[in-house]
Amino acid sequence: MKEGWGDVDAFDGSCQCGACRYEVTEGQALQTVCHCRMCQRATGNAFAPLIAVETAHVTWEGMPKLFQSSNLAQRGFCGECGTPLFYQRLGCGEIEFMVGTINSDFNYSPVRNHGAESRLGWVLGLANVTERETFFDDGETVVSHQYEHGG
Ligand SMILES: [Zn+2]
Ligand SMILES: [Zn+2]
Repeated sequence: MKEGWGDVDAFDGSCQCGACRYEVTEGQALQTVCHCRMCQRATGNAFAPLIAVETAHVTWEGMPKLFQSSNLAQRGFCGECGTPLFYQRLGCGEIEFMVGTINSDFNYSPVRNHGAESRLGWVLGLANVTERETFFDDGETVVSHQYEHGG
């Protein structure tokens, strides 16, 4: 087994509009968080929670668009809704999904921080910031337009 890799159950995921959907069969995976500048830009976010699996375990319904973000890697995203779906180092036979795109309950447990040189200080401090649940003060209800798996 490759270093840091462990067994995971099958899981599936999609972009937020449902045009790109994937399934991953049970197997080995590496769960990491990447803080590098390229992942920050690709996700529009502070870091990318990723799960790497072998591409042989993946099937797609609706293919993502690809952007070659460096000489070494490409990134897949939905051409309809723009959701970042994966990072993929070219020619390595692995694909790393953005964990937020997984539909099923998935017990994500990262084993490593990558891109540590770019990790933002406030990320570490989040655990100490006041929290509240998702709601609207004026009583408005949220009607999601996002794809619901099995819906
Ligand atoms: Zn989409
Ligand atoms: Zn990265």
